[in-house]
Amino acid sequence: MIPGARFIILGRQGAGKGTQCVRLSRHYVVPHISTGDMLRVAVRERTELGLAAREIMDAGGLVGDDIMIGIVDERLRRDDARSRGYILDGFPRTVKQAEALFDITEGLKKPLDVVIDLDVPRELVLQRLSARRVCRDCGTNYVASGRERQPWICDVCGGDVTQRDDDTPEAINKRLDLYEEQTSPLIEFYGEADRLTVVDGVGTPDQVFNKLTLAVGASQKK
Ligand code: ADP
Repeated sequence: MIPGARFIILGRQGAGKGTQCVRLSRHYVVPHISTGDMLRVAVRERTELGLAAREIMDAGGLVGDDIMIGIVDERLRRDDARSRGYILDGFPRTVKQAEALFDITEGLKKPLDVVIDLDVPRELVLQRLSARRVCRDCGTNYVASGRERQPWICDVCGGDVTQRDDDTPEAINKRLDLYEEQTSPLIEFYGEADRLTVVDGVGTPDQVFNKLTLAVGASQKK
């Protein structure tokens, strides 16, 4: 694996991108850049961006392309991403964002190395998202069985474990519909340039992680 690799990960909501990106970023020692996490921090800190994004996010909509492109452009110019690469999680989500990312990486003379589609069928992600609970402080994901003691305290940091505001049935369905409409065309976008590696995201987190590292290794040998 080349040091400082630049990855993007596509996949439906609930495909396991967040969980796997944390592991991949440790494994390959590259920063994990999640646009969803950046927006949630902005919402929590009530910044101008957070105030503008909150309603859109809670309803399961997409924040405007120009805002998102500005945020990612600024983030990828920072020293750590320039020298150590990155795993970009949650961006690009539209063809316009993918085109802008191409321009940004061209401008920095640092093209993408790996594009992964973490593939999980819609029926399965619906089940996963309904049971998903998240630590408000550190973002660790949990699966609810319904038998947890309340308040539910995070094993990792002691924060509150709750359901995400956008994990309501309406917002989940809206996000999945938007994924099919706006994000799935990116599979063709990257597939045409022969950059895409599809990884089956069904399995335990360990099994999926093994599939991902094998796929990354194979894509480097191409
Ligand atoms: P999920 O993939 O489960 O929707 P994320 O944490 O990736 O979760 O994103 C949460 C929300 O943040 C999205 O539903 C959307 O409103 C907003 N968001 C994140 N990334 C983008 C993006 N690249 N473009 C537009 N909106 C985004």
